[in-house]
Amino acid sequence: MSQDLFPVKPDIRERAHIKTMEEYQRLYRLSLDNPEWFWGEQAKMLTWFHPWQSVFDADYKEVDFSWFMGGRINASFNCIDRHLPHLGDKTAIIWAQDEPGVYTHITYRDLKHNVARVANVLLHNGVKKGDRVCIYLTMIPELVYTMLACARIGAVHSVVFGGFSAESLRDRIVDARCKVVVTANEGLRGGKKVPLKRTVDRAIEGMSLVECVLVARRTDSEVPMQPGRDLWLDEETAKQRSTCTNEWMGAEDPLFILYTSGSTGKPKGLLHTTGGYLTYAAFTHKLVFDYHPEDIYFCAADIGWVTGHSYIVYGPLANGATTVIFESTPLYPDPGRYWQIIDDLGVSIFYTAPTALRALAQAGDDWIKKYSRKSLRILGTVGEPINPEVWRWYHDVVGDARCTVVDTWWQTETGGILITPLPGVTPTKPGSATLPFFGVKPVIVDPATGIPIEGNDVSGALCLGAPWPGQARTVHGDHKRFRETYFTQYPGYYFTGDGARRDEDGYYWITGRIDDVINVSGHRLGTAEVESALVAHEAVAEAAVVGYPHPIKGQGIYCYVLLNSGFSEGNQDQLIGALKEQVRQAIGAFAAPDVIHIAAGLPKTRSGKIMRRILRKIASAEYDGMGDISTLAEPDVVNKLIEEHQKSQ
Ligand code: ATP
Ligand code: MG
Repeated sequence: MSQDLFPVKPDIRERAHIKTMEEYQRLYRLSLDNPEWFWGEQAKMLTWFHPWQSVFDADYKEVDFSWFMGGRINASFNCIDRHLPHLGDKTAIIWAQDEPGVYTHITYRDLKHNVARVANVLLHNGVKKGDRVCIYLTMIPELVYTMLACARIGAVHSVVFGGFSAESLRDRIVDARCKVVVTANEGLRGGKKVPLKRTVDRAIEGMSLVECVLVARRTDSEVPMQPGRDLWLDEETAKQRSTCTNEWMGAEDPLFILYTSGSTGKPKGLLHTTGGYLTYAAFTHKLVFDYHPEDIYFCAADIGWVTGHSYIVYGPLANGATTVIFESTPLYPDPGRYWQIIDDLGVSIFYTAPTALRALAQAGDDWIKKYSRKSLRILGTVGEPINPEVWRWYHDVVGDARCTVVDTWWQTETGGILITPLPGVTPTKPGSATLPFFGVKPVIVDPATGIPIEGNDVSGALCLGAPWPGQARTVHGDHKRFRETYFTQYPGYYFTGDGARRDEDGYYWITGRIDDVINVSGHRLGTAEVESALVAHEAVAEAAVVGYPHPIKGQGIYCYVLLNSGFSEGNQDQLIGALKEQVRQAIGAFAAPDVIHIAAGLPKTRSGKIMRRILRKIASAEYDGMGDISTLAEPDVVNKLIEEHQKSQ
């Protein structure tokens, strides 16, 4: 693994909220020694209608956590109304539309009017506090309006990513028992139309649960409207006042349900509540990205994932930021799209995922060099372990070695970022998420014995030993599943499902999902390590590594690799040999791959994560029983891989 250390950049330290490692360590200790004091202080960054009585309560046996009990707060008020006296004319949202160069600026005052109108439409259609509203939209402003409208009246939103199939949407609507669905006639993404309304119609066919479908208008296309059920959102909002009272929500009242991306199995509807979640989202957004009022902030995730919830909508808006909503894809119309937006809007903070970075690195540096990117200061990444090679590319090429890269580790379940560098504080190492955020207590546990492993230079299962305000409170409608998934495996700890290594400096390296760890002749090997060794080779664009049954070693190492253009022609034997050697050199002889499978594509979730569960099956020649593949972006890839595997046998 890379041991390069990138020191904190002096100009970035200069303006940072926290400027020294000593200050970080002092606050970090305080946050663990006296969490009630610490989080009580941070929650003051929000506006409360009524103060809380206790900062934190827990019933560890029941796995019930509550933060800021007795406090009354509203997330919509905190993201909008409280800013109006001084920031009414500030741009809250820049909507970067699918067509390059088309931007809509929405001020905080506009935001308030639009949100209030949608809130009134929901109320008018019988939505009450506690009711669930499903939002099935692509990245248009109505998506944010509806989320904040729900928050305003105390309804619970469940955003379902606009790329999901009718079947996946149906499952999620039924699971959350949503009585209203908000969608659009069509979405636009990468120049293509997304048939949102048609998919909703199929999803709720014959279902009496959904009483009302509100349809935003994104394109000119007509869609069938079912009388008595379907309404055009613009026609309804036109009837409503632009004022709507904020409900005084209890701190522990639900804010939203969100389903995990489904990399590992049946998606879980995690429930987040109001006071703790918003405190955590706002506080992490401010410190991790070192947010200042003059920043233009661009998180390129989709709001259908938790990254979009916490770091496009709730965190930035609670901080009064200008946040970009991007409707298109990084490759439309060409791989220069992100950098064009950055130059057009003067973006200073940019946040994306390794999957996008790998695709853009593959397209070549000329696309980046075409743009100045001089406004950039902070570059974030989230979603998967970032290969050190890709990290360096992000730092050197995208950031011109001038910007700070923050590799942020967290989960839908955690509500916000947990392990991350702080721009003014933490020297970084490519591929490491570095150190815990305030109040976060990572514990590395021996997966076999469940005993915590102390000290540095150790690895195992990553757990968390202390509660924090942003954590999910339950799985919607299934508290037993919540308890069993996260709190029973290693009693006394929250189990993340990820593996991690704490290196000799106490830095954390996420080694991938613990279920993906390969055991070769008694050596435990994280898949991320082998993948990064492969990606470090010039021929390899992307790699996914899994274990498969091996008669001698127990498990063999099976590597799927995607080649860069220019390397896919002719006889590959020599290249395969070179790749095996590359891993042997980087990690050790025990890690030398048994199989290198040059693949045309990899199965990914719609959030762009590699689905190793499927790759494991194929590597083991188990072609049936792939489980739930409804969250796959391109299901055809699976058949292609099976064909390739069969041919090689
Ligand atoms: P499911 O739980 O349904 O399988 P998922 O885990 O992919 O889906 P998310 O909650 O969106 O759903 O993703 C969280 C996971 O993503 C983490 O547990 C971790 O495996 C991975 N991850 C996120 N950020 C990072 C990071 N910076 N470095 C390494 N891994 C990361
Ligand atoms: Mg997960």
